[in-house]
Amino acid sequence: MEEDKIARLKSWIDESRSIVFFGGAGVSTESGIPDFRSADGLYAQKYAYPPEEIVSHDFLRRYPAEFYRFYRDKLIVKGAKPNAAHLYLARLEREGRLSAVVTQNIDGLHQAAGSRTVYELHGSLLRNYCVKCGERYDGDYVQDAEDIPYCPKCGGMIRPDVVLYGEGLDGNVIAGAVSAIRHADMLIVGGTSLVVYPAAGLINYYRGHRLVLINLSSTPYDSEADLVIHGKIGEVFSRL
Ligand code: NAD
Repeated sequence: MEEDKIARLKSWIDESRSIVFFGGAGVSTESGIPDFRSADGLYAQKYAYPPEEIVSHDFLRRYPAEFYRFYRDKLIVKGAKPNAAHLYLARLEREGRLSAVVTQNIDGLHQAAGSRTVYELHGSLLRNYCVKCGERYDGDYVQDAEDIPYCPKCGGMIRPDVVLYGEGLDGNVIAGAVSAIRHADMLIVGGTSLVVYPAAGLINYYRGHRLVLINLSSTPYDSEADLVIHGKIGEVFSRL
């Protein structure tokens, strides 16, 4: 990792007052949660169905038991803690430099680290609801249930408040994320392959000249960035 890139990143952060961080699954791999597309990510592991199909609206409707088996085995990682990347971003917000975190993650680790303005584009595994009566349940309730979790009040199936493939994003969350990115004086994008749309397209709303990409592997946006650092995001932030 070149020293001059780290130095440039640090000076841009020091000069900024409304940084937005846009991240994905790679932000949480250093907390022990696998991403989808790395070599040891979930796509490289063998299941009866590809993960993209399992975490889809249609699959949950047709094969809820299989969905929940995958959910408990691979999506929820009990005891996962925020890592250096989550903690650094929470600190930037406290110091008045960062205005929002926009995340594709569903693990709640930014809030656990202390971040307050977090736009969860794909929802959260910590929130769940009954599809019949709407009653809300926390992550532990669903994780501890056997097989398919059912609502004790009405018997309906409980599902996570996450955006599955085949479902639309929440309009208010998108509007908040777009506004934060439009007004950002620096946009740091990290730990995302930038291939999941419409989420990845949100970075096109950035109007400034400090677009930084921090990712282990290259992304389709590398050529558009003002600074590209290939490395582990927790390690990069630890060096600032
Ligand atoms: P992805 O799996 O497509 O890509 C992750 C990217 O992060 C890869 O390009 C990889 O090279 C990089 N990466 C991995 N570890 C890294 C690290 N320590 N530092 C820097 N880069 C690192 O993830 P995505 O783009 O977020 O899209 C996957 C979708 O799956 C998202 O929509 C997300 O909702 C969901 N997902 C979420 C979680 C989670 O909540 N933690 C985990 C898996 C998948």
